[in-house]
Amino acid sequence: MNLNSAQTPSTADDWKQLIAKTSQPQMIFRRLLVWIAVAMVSAVPSFLLAIVSGHQNWPAYVAMLLGILLFAFMLATISASSRFRDRLERPFVRRSMQIGFGLRILASLVVPIGFSLDMFPGMLTTMAGRLVAAGIGLDLDGFLITFLQTLIQGSLLNIEILLVVAGARVFQIAFLTWRPRSEDACLKCGYHLEHANPHAGAACPECGSTAGPIGQNQDWVDRVSLTRLSLSLIAGLLVAFSIQGAIGMVTALVSENFG
Ligand SMILES: [Zn+2]
Repeated sequence: MNLNSAQTPSTADDWKQLIAKTSQPQMIFRRLLVWIAVAMVSAVPSFLLAIVSGHQNWPAYVAMLLGILLFAFMLATISASSRFRDRLERPFVRRSMQIGFGLRILASLVVPIGFSLDMFPGMLTTMAGRLVAAGIGLDLDGFLITFLQTLIQGSLLNIEILLVVAGARVFQIAFLTWRPRSEDACLKCGYHLEHANPHAGAACPECGSTAGPIGQNQDWVDRVSLTRLSLSLIAGLLVAFSIQGAIGMVTALVSENFG
């Protein structure tokens, strides 16, 4: 038994042993952090619309925050499930999901675009809230109605995103040729480790990385330390909120002076 093999894996099998499997609760927790950040950035236009339309009290703010956290938790549980992770490997699914949620984040960053996307679902949500509030005699801007509206608006926005995901997938199936991710490709540069070197784990002959083949690595979200994941998300949130704040202020100034 070579003691060094624990630190410096030299075969593909050693890599498999080296990488500790992340437990399911850990996977859900890490994805929850990611989805909370994604949901918070994505929710900003609808949050502003809700404030403009009168939900200006603490119970309403708490209801919206709880609704957003609930969506983040649902998305985290779904994306940590092995069934979902298997589906990600089907032709074009992973990239279509990235396109759908990526475009949603971009639209939310450019607040006026987010506004116009959320306006129509927002009108449906407002109508539904009014109907229920009138039906059971609840305060239109109170906790319960706002929470219900957050769930409706969040569902509508996720349906919008899934339509984009489906569209992106159909487009790619129609016009692109599917090339599955190779399990033997170097994680850093994509070089085929298996063909070049039987000691696949040692170092990539192309880029020198010891990251090993894709097939034996976990997703970034599971691989990095919790500290690094948290700091990256906080940095991402700060950048996103700054962009939204700056674009939002410019939009407000322009509409005040020319609108
Ligand atoms: Zn490489």
